[in-house]
Amino acid sequence: MNGYWSDIITGSKSLVTGLMITAREFFKPVVTEQYPYEVPTMTPLFRGHIELIGNAETGAPNCVVCGMCQRACPSDCISLDGKKAEGGKGKVLTSYSLDFTKCSLCGQCVESCNFDALRFSKDYNLAGFDKNEFIMDLLQRLEEQNRCKH
Ligand code: SF4
Ligand code: SF4
Repeated sequence: MNGYWSDIITGSKSLVTGLMITAREFFKPVVTEQYPYEVPTMTPLFRGHIELIGNAETGAPNCVVCGMCQRACPSDCISLDGKKAEGGKGKVLTSYSLDFTKCSLCGQCVESCNFDALRFSKDYNLAGFDKNEFIMDLLQRLEEQNRCKH
């Protein structure tokens, strides 16, 4: 009989403890993000695929086609091209392609750029059925971003 009552007391204590924890958590602020209905804000150091940075006023790429990022990439992910600027010095970027299937997000390209022309994007939810979808035209991407701003 003693065992019977002690089981009831132990069970009741455990039930009350559980209910107290449930009640305490119920009144705490909600921290779970309701993805995909809520879009999470990535932290400043988050590394998505690389992207080109455009001039704040004109939107034109800051890239001067020096090729440092291409040479710095250990995985041969970057190919780019440029042409001589009309009536000016230097080159204008005409294509910038990233093969994201090979990228390890090591950051060598971003670190090698001395012209504030390259950074990590905040894209976190890339998915696709074909790996060719991850060969990215970053110049076109920058142009689309510029169009969205206007
Ligand atoms: S290192 Fe910078 S400026 Fe040079 S080609 Fe790469 S993105 Fe352009
Ligand atoms: S992050 Fe690294 S692997 Fe990716 S493109 Fe840049 S240098 Fe290449």
